[in-house]
Amino acid sequence: MREKSNAHQDAQEKQPLPRPDLVILDRDGVINQDSSAYIKSRDEWIPIPGSLEAMAQLHHAGIKIGIATNQRGIALGLYDHQALEEMHEKMRILLAEHQGEIDMIAFCTADDPHHPDRKPNPGMLLSIIEALALPKESVIYFVGDKSSDVEAAQRATKESDYQVTPILVRTGNGLKSEKKMNDSSLLTYNDLASFVDALLLNRTIPSTEE
Ligand SMILES: [Mg+2]
Repeated sequence: MREKSNAHQDAQEKQPLPRPDLVILDRDGVINQDSSAYIKSRDEWIPIPGSLEAMAQLHHAGIKIGIATNQRGIALGLYDHQALEEMHEKMRILLAEHQGEIDMIAFCTADDPHHPDRKPNPGMLLSIIEALALPKESVIYFVGDKSSDVEAAQRATKESDYQVTPILVRTGNGLKSEKKMNDSSLLTYNDLASFVDALLLNRTIPSTEE
């Protein structure tokens, strides 16, 4: 069940969001339920209600989808590459039921906080953007549930010629992150589905420039 929107969020969602060329998603806590015990198998990978439908909507709208996920559980020996592949296969199969597709999945198995790909470092975001060969003026969002996701987006912007706008969702660790960061300028939505709704509804607002 979705939470009731607060007044602040309502105001925020009325502002038009530029239509993106690419939406990069964190995985755990954004697409699927997260667990402090890690998501270790295909069976533990459970989508958050509405997330796959939202991804399919993005795909149908011609917006590219990337995933950037820290998976240090592999470095910790909690699961292996094959288990990770199986989770991603499950995700792709369930998404295909909605005729959705993912353009690229980047994951970082390192436990080392200095690894360039481990969020909050921006390596995975920049790899996805470069692999998809997007022009510099592209509109790109990164949707996450942790402060490390927000920081990765900010650093991707600082360390490249691209603008990557952070979006926080309240699923997973999002509510805790929202309280911890206490940043009223951060675009925050209850979940991925409500972000995508806001994004795609804005397309129907007539342009005032014409
Ligand atoms: Mg997460």
